[in-house]
Amino acid sequence: MSNHPSIDELRNQFEQEFSHIKRLAELDVLKVKYLGKKGPIQELMKTLKEVKPEERPAVGQRINQLKVEFEEKCSVLHEQLVQKEEEEKLRDEKIDISVPGRRRYLGSKHLLNACLDEIIDILTGMGFSVQYGPDIESDYYNFEALNFAPDHPARDLQDTFYITDKMLLRTHTTNIQIRVMENHQPPIRIISPGKAYRNEAISARSHVFFHQIDPLYIDKGVTFSDLLSTLDEFLDKLFYKNVEKRYRPSYFPFVEPGMEADVRCFLCEGKGCPICKYSGWLEVLGAGMVHPEVLKNGGIDPEIYSGFAWGMGLERLVMIKYGIPDIRYFTENHMRFLRQFVSL
Ligand SMILES: [Zn+2]
Repeated sequence: MSNHPSIDELRNQFEQEFSHIKRLAELDVLKVKYLGKKGPIQELMKTLKEVKPEERPAVGQRINQLKVEFEEKCSVLHEQLVQKEEEEKLRDEKIDISVPGRRRYLGSKHLLNACLDEIIDILTGMGFSVQYGPDIESDYYNFEALNFAPDHPARDLQDTFYITDKMLLRTHTTNIQIRVMENHQPPIRIISPGKAYRNEAISARSHVFFHQIDPLYIDKGVTFSDLLSTLDEFLDKLFYKNVEKRYRPSYFPFVEPGMEADVRCFLCEGKGCPICKYSGWLEVLGAGMVHPEVLKNGGIDPEIYSGFAWGMGLERLVMIKYGIPDIRYFTENHMRFLRQFVSL
């Protein structure tokens, strides 16, 4: 056999490669390489004719043994790999019921609508009814009848989108008040939710449109203390029971006297923070007793009747209530923002 050391070399070489086989595909390649028609075993068979005739049967047998040995090893490994790859496949396809599901989001009310509904609920619960007015309004109902004379400086406070000389996008929802007075005698107890428009630069604090709610109450003998007690009750319901309040004199052409209401900053509890501009207070609304001129413009006798009104920006209230730092979040419709409020 000394003239065929290559049988042992071939076996070593095969064993070496065989020990590295991990996949069926690799095994197929190995089988072709060693056992195929152009493989080394066939090559050895061809060399038999060079062997001495008396040694030929023994050498032939050894080569054949080698071939059988390779085939058996490959066959055993083939079975193992088939089973292994089946198991892997099953494992990959198995449904793991412990994996968290992919969350599906249902549509929900926008944060502003949810809060508007809440405010309407509070106020209708206090006896107010809802009245809507037009977004495109005449100068008369938006300004003139509300005691803004044509040259009134307060007009400059409300940067207005004019459509024509006499028509504009309403700058507040107070525009509904004269229309209601023209058509109803007191008692009048209404709120007028809707959009208002101002020609302002868009920033974290202001936008070209926002939502307002304007309650109005007119009857015989309505006093300033009625206004204060109504505001107290409303603010307690909107924020939390006995929220600390502060009322300051202020000026609006359609009320006299006019005032603004603040609540204690609940983010810093009055110590001062960026949201309250380090004042400890958050301005939440403007209010006052309906100006006698406004009552007259609505056809209501100010000698008999009196009333109060207040106005508030929905966005501002929602920003305060939920600590939202930028008014633009309401209109940018980022899902990560909106989804925080789906339960409202
Ligand atoms: Zn604060």
